[in-house]
Amino acid sequence: MLARLFRLHGLLVASHPWEVIVGTLALTVCLVSMNHNLAASSQMCSWNECPKVEEAIHSSGEIILTVTRCMAIVYIYFQFKNLRQLGSKYILGIAGLFTGFSSFIFSTVVIHFFGKELTGLNEALPFFLLLIDLSKACALAKFALSSNSQEEVRENISEGMAILGPTFTLDAVVECLVIGVGTVSGVPQLEIMCCFGCMSVLANYFVRMSNLSRESREGRPIWQLSHFARVLAEEEDNKPNPVTQRVKIIMSLSLALVHAHTRLAAEQPGQNRSLYWYTQVGVNICNHLLCLPSMHLEQVITLGLALLLAVKYVFFEQTETESSLSLMSPITSSPATQRPGVEGDVRRWEPPAPKPRATAGAASGRGGPPEADAASSERGEACSRHRGGKANTRSVALQRGPRLLSDKEVMNLVSSRNILNYKLESVLETPERGVAIRRDMLSPKLPVLSALASLPYKEYDYSKVMGTCCENVIGYIPVPVGVAGPLLLDEKHFYVPMATTEGCLVASTNRGCRALSLSGGCHSRILADSMTRGPVVRLPSACRAAEVKVWLETPEGFAAMRDVFDQSSRFARLEKLLVGLAGRNLYIRFQSQTGDAMGMNMLSKGTEHALQRLTQQHPDVEVLSVSGNYCTDKKSAAINWVLGRGKSAVCEATVPAAVVREVLKSSTASLVELNINKNLVGSAMAGSIGGFNAHAANIVAAIYIACGQDPAQTVGSSNCITQMEAAGAGGEDLYISCTMPSIELGTVGGGTNLAPQQACLQMLGVQGTSAGEPGDNARQLARVVCATVLAGELSLMAALAAGHLVKSHMVHNRSDSSPQPTVCVKYASPLGPPLHRHQRRFHERGGVKEVKSYIIGVTSQ
Ligand code: NAP
Repeated sequence: MLARLFRLHGLLVASHPWEVIVGTLALTVCLVSMNHNLAASSQMCSWNECPKVEEAIHSSGEIILTVTRCMAIVYIYFQFKNLRQLGSKYILGIAGLFTGFSSFIFSTVVIHFFGKELTGLNEALPFFLLLIDLSKACALAKFALSSNSQEEVRENISEGMAILGPTFTLDAVVECLVIGVGTVSGVPQLEIMCCFGCMSVLANYFVRMSNLSRESREGRPIWQLSHFARVLAEEEDNKPNPVTQRVKIIMSLSLALVHAHTRLAAEQPGQNRSLYWYTQVGVNICNHLLCLPSMHLEQVITLGLALLLAVKYVFFEQTETESSLSLMSPITSSPATQRPGVEGDVRRWEPPAPKPRATAGAASGRGGPPEADAASSERGEACSRHRGGKANTRSVALQRGPRLLSDKEVMNLVSSRNILNYKLESVLETPERGVAIRRDMLSPKLPVLSALASLPYKEYDYSKVMGTCCENVIGYIPVPVGVAGPLLLDEKHFYVPMATTEGCLVASTNRGCRALSLSGGCHSRILADSMTRGPVVRLPSACRAAEVKVWLETPEGFAAMRDVFDQSSRFARLEKLLVGLAGRNLYIRFQSQTGDAMGMNMLSKGTEHALQRLTQQHPDVEVLSVSGNYCTDKKSAAINWVLGRGKSAVCEATVPAAVVREVLKSSTASLVELNINKNLVGSAMAGSIGGFNAHAANIVAAIYIACGQDPAQTVGSSNCITQMEAAGAGGEDLYISCTMPSIELGTVGGGTNLAPQQACLQMLGVQGTSAGEPGDNARQLARVVCATVLAGELSLMAALAAGHLVKSHMVHNRSDSSPQPTVCVKYASPLGPPLHRHQRRFHERGGVKEVKSYIIGVTSQ
């Protein structure tokens, strides 16, 4: 009902703006003329001419008034400053001040009309300034500015009035009642000022409620003020909060009661004297203590402050803001760039125009296109550190609140290095917006403009990524996740998540799991658990290096290292130091358990501490690098294969002949033979280190990607030797084992903090910190990896032995859209194994036409 009333009122003022304006003016003139006589005998004083003011000059009240005036000036300064974000430096502010001035005149006239005392009006001026609230005008203007056509204007204004009218009314009532408390204070000056304050609030209210349409007409059609509209649209929802509304209503009622009570009490003499008495005592004490300023001093202070802020606003604010925004005429700038995926918007983006004037930021020669932007963000940061002006500019721009900057403005700030590209996520109000803007800036530089259109980026929790998992984020890659299982391992069933794009892989592993389940499952053990970090240090001579090596290998040397190393983490416990020497270089392999973390950061931290201790003990030790490749991390190395790294695990199973025959479609004899010739002899022929298996890396990589492990550690983690033997009474059963000495993984830290990856870890019941011994979860995950590798080995070897591999890949690993290589070299070799039926068909059709590596890249061996 109330909303409807305000809607109608809004419609009236929107459709008949001139009538409303003329009506308001006429009413004012009418009031003025009615009081003409009164005005003639007005006691209204000019600034400081009033005798009563003369009296007050020497009172402490003057100090209070000076402070109030200064506050008013500072307040107005900030109001104007805030208006900059709306793209208007003066107009709206002047309009606001005009409204305040109108209120002042209106109040004067009304007070005259009722024949009241006007003395001290000059003192009330600061109150009028403090009561000017431009944000309300802006809130109303928002509705008008969101219109796209003249027709929409009226509709939107009435809508705005319906939504905001009741709030403004309630606000006006509350303000009046609050300020009205001052009118019963018993302090004459305060009473007068508060009286004017109430009048001002009312006048502001009436002006606002009748003047709406004018607020939105600053010289051009309002639907063209797209920037302004957008900025306002980004402000928080203007719909009144019902809780606040209720509080205001209750507060108004209480205040109304207080007012009523006070008025009634005032009519009974003597009853309201205490407040007055206390106030007078206070004022007298202040008079004695603070009888300091002269009128001139007070004027000088107020005027000085006003001038100072005015100069700052007019000259310095302009320079800063323009340099920060490289203002592209906010009024005429195009609407905010929409999110990528909308090709047109990406195209619409243009490099910023050269800056209009040389500023602190422009002096660095930037302002052109942002081509070198992403590539040199670090350099940008370094430069900005040396540019105090720039940093200031950035803070000025961001003080506006990132929400209030359009995408295009943010891009300009990035181009001018006022916002660092790689910090977009943390600087903007949401990381997603930062990612979107980075994509927008990147797209025009790519060979295909719409390249990023299919790379998703929305609805992703980037807070878990920032500072931990990835930088310069432009989206995320969805990888299909399949499940293999149940895998019967150590009498427990596991469903293993595998993220892969290789068709057949999950199906094949699943077949292996089925064979194992039908065989009574597999069994595993953890052989060792310690991560390594191997720094390189240099000494002046090989002999000195040898001496330090000897010291490190003594119990005292090891204890000295261990003491500082262990302090670096709750979980790291130094177990061993392996020291290698090459000339005057020392390679020290630190080895430690790491709880449930994979532990590379943990080891690096501990190692760094230990090296500091080492240099204290031996000042001639020069640390070349905290990693000297003696670890060895993410590179194929015999040291990991021989000594182990991370978790060393072994898993075994005996598969009955019937399962080999029925499920694996093979025989124990052919599997054993193939294993010897391929996984052992074949790998030895290839000079392999740790690659004595069919495709351990396939399973390791798929589980690692699904479970948030570091995928690059597939290199060392895939070290595996697969062994097969004939078993059972008749030698028909198959014994198989997989030994993996360097499984590098964890269930806390790194990518395991991301929600989807955590979901996969939860599938295995190993997410996060273990409930029992530290590291139990990580060790369990290592067992699962080893067992799944065994399942994968079983299935692939069976497929190879039976000649099913290519056939199943042709079915599961190719779609019509796959690029078609002419022929795979592998099957065309005359030296290769006997050809199967479908391979022979290739030959019959013409044999090798072109050698391509495509199929080899995606097959699994
Ligand atoms: P991390 O997240 O860096 O460290 C583990 C953190 O989790 C430590 O602060 C540890 O506490 C805490 N924590 C809480 N509960 C734990 C528990 N139950 N077990 C173990 N730690 C627990 O993880 P990280 O495994 O050491 O490092 C993994 C990251 O390093 C991955 O992102 C990986 O990609 C990256 N990485 C780094 C390097 C390198 O050279 N630095 C090399 C390869 C990979 P404390 O503070 O008490 O230790």
